Amino acid sequence: MTKKSFAGIDGFRLVAALLVIAIHTSPLASYSQTADFVLTRVIARVAVPFFLMTSGFFLISRYADGAGRLVSFLKKTALIYLAATVLYIPLNVYAGYFRGEHLLPNILKDIVFDGTFYHLWYLPAAFLGAAIAWFFTRKLGFRWALVISLVLYAIGLFGDSYYGLAERVPMLKSAYDALFEVTDYTRNGLFMAPVFFVLGGMLAERKRMPLKISVPGFIVSFALMCGEALTLRHFGLQRHDSMYVLLPLCMVFLFECLLSFKGTRKKGLGTAALLVYLLHPMAIVAVRFAARPLGLWDVLVENSLVHYAVVCLSTLAVSAVLTLLWEKKGPKRAKHLPGTDRAYLEIDLGALEHNVRVINEAAPEGCALMAVVKASAYGHGMFKVAERLAKLGVRAYAVATLDEGIELRRYGIPGEILILGWTDPERAGELRRYRITQTLIDGEYAKKLDDQGVRVRAHLKVDTGMHRLGYAWEDAEGVAGAFGLKNIEITGIYTHLGTSESLAEGDCRYSELQIKRFYGLLEALKARGVAIPKVHIQSSYGLLNYPELQCDYVREGVSLYGVLSAPGDVTKLQLDLAPVLSMRTTVAHLLRVKAGEGVGYDRAFMAARDSVIAVLPVGYGDGYPRSLSCGRGYVLLRGRRAPVAGKICMDQMSVDVTDIPGVRVGDAVTLIGRDGEEELTAPEVAAASGSITNELLSRMGKRLGMITKN
Ligand SMILES: *Cc1c(COP(=O)(O)O)cnc(C)c1O
Repeated sequence: MTKKSFAGIDGFRLVAALLVIAIHTSPLASYSQTADFVLTRVIARVAVPFFLMTSGFFLISRYADGAGRLVSFLKKTALIYLAATVLYIPLNVYAGYFRGEHLLPNILKDIVFDGTFYHLWYLPAAFLGAAIAWFFTRKLGFRWALVISLVLYAIGLFGDSYYGLAERVPMLKSAYDALFEVTDYTRNGLFMAPVFFVLGGMLAERKRMPLKISVPGFIVSFALMCGEALTLRHFGLQRHDSMYVLLPLCMVFLFECLLSFKGTRKKGLGTAALLVYLLHPMAIVAVRFAARPLGLWDVLVENSLVHYAVVCLSTLAVSAVLTLLWEKKGPKRAKHLPGTDRAYLEIDLGALEHNVRVINEAAPEGCALMAVVKASAYGHGMFKVAERLAKLGVRAYAVATLDEGIELRRYGIPGEILILGWTDPERAGELRRYRITQTLIDGEYAKKLDDQGVRVRAHLKVDTGMHRLGYAWEDAEGVAGAFGLKNIEITGIYTHLGTSESLAEGDCRYSELQIKRFYGLLEALKARGVAIPKVHIQSSYGLLNYPELQCDYVREGVSLYGVLSAPGDVTKLQLDLAPVLSMRTTVAHLLRVKAGEGVGYDRAFMAARDSVIAVLPVGYGDGYPRSLSCGRGYVLLRGRRAPVAGKICMDQMSVDVTDIPGVRVGDAVTLIGRDGEEELTAPEVAAASGSITNELLSRMGKRLGMITKN
């Protein structure tokens, strides 16, 4: 499968770089000042926000995985800035920069805010903006980060194209004048950049906007922005012209339009656009330098449009050559993502999407999917899974712990997040801050939570016979009392079935009894005047075996990931689910052992014949159960099954490949998943290890890297 990705974004990088050249060459100035204003001060003003948003799109949504990507972005930006600064020193000298007054403060101010050459302000702005956006999204979540960065943007606006208004208020004027001592403009990393990083990150999390909304949205907001700019110009209010009220909105629509164009990734375009951006002032100088001796000044410089075209073409040519050289000679990227060279999990998000569709179709009208993403989404990686689900419009999630919930929120996942188990009531403040819903596990717990004096949201759990957590189903009085608690807003009520996976006569009777008790309690509550909140009963097997129930949510865990808990489970409803997870490794080492030799700890494998053993770099420390030792487990190699030979170690294991011809070091090995015609399903592997799928998947080791497929 070729990876389709953001061709629209990649292509627009080059367009944006050419727009930046326009800003610095005024292509239409020879024809009409107004047309040139619209081109260079309005249209071209989308270029820098576009670059900032693109960085935000690829960076911010992944910050929760750790600050690794941020740090490498900051390093890269700083390095490019340093190189560009050095590159432009000769031009600075030529322009007399070092002969100016207040040299040291000026240099500092230029390095931090304004850029060491006129176009270079973008680099320190990207550096500072990314750091600020990261800090706030991480600390406060996307919503607050957006609010804060919009406030910063507003401050910037009044120092930029709305300065004419600020100037009339003496207090504002002196504040801005003080500010302009430190930085020449407000279009910098502090005021302008953060909002575009945050917006980029937010868009990465959201469901895609259809073109029929994004295209008209862009046209309308862009037309209004032109109106805004021309009005400001008419009244002479602009001190500078980089920031408009409508610019962020316009960018959201533009970015959504661009995201709709998918195609093969062109990495070179990014490099070329960066070079065009960095080098075009050189080209401007070079064209001027060459034009006079060639006697072409009138054509190449005086005609603004020709001038622009010549600068663009020469910059493009140099950038293209340098890009090709870089791709040939530059550092080679490692073939593997970090942590995926020895063994990895392959997460098929396309399969996840398919399962969501199938489950939504199976659930009754009006019943929403509550995605159970506890235990790192059953080992599938909570962030990537939740990110995709959020894009698909899933608005309810269930987790096991408050910390899982907080991580999801910080990652920017919107909607309801329900904690299914106990949380220390003293953490009520965090429940509230992160808008996380707590389960009321009994009356005593509810009272303790209420006593914290912090208003929190909760779902009330009813024990109808599973006898784990919940208010006793007979205790209508106590349950009704919970609805009167001052600090607790109960938005849901639910129960859990203990035997729903079985269709055996007795088990069905018991599930029906649990269901009857639950609805009986709801009736008793109604009789007491309680307004019934959202109701849910079914987990995966609940939906499969009791599809006729009409609830507000189904809490889907294992089936969302495309598997059943045990192989061969018979269910009333049969859904066409697709497994999301595969576990793969590679052959690290091959050896021949003579008949009678032992392999591994305790010589638990004794070769009955001359054998070929493949050693795999994966073990129980990676989540592959040790109980699969000695032939109880199999792996797939070249589309065939090979039994586990001897005892599985913490970090490696051996398989007997004597019957599979042609095995080589480096061959792909499948521990869970499909290889050609053969498949090892997670339920089958789990059953062989003496457990259920849920345990096998949720214990997948932290050490495994992940590769996601779309
Ligand atoms: C884990 C859990 C679920 C999800 O169960 P699956 O069988 O994986 O769908 C649902 N409800 C509760 C209360 C749970 O703890």
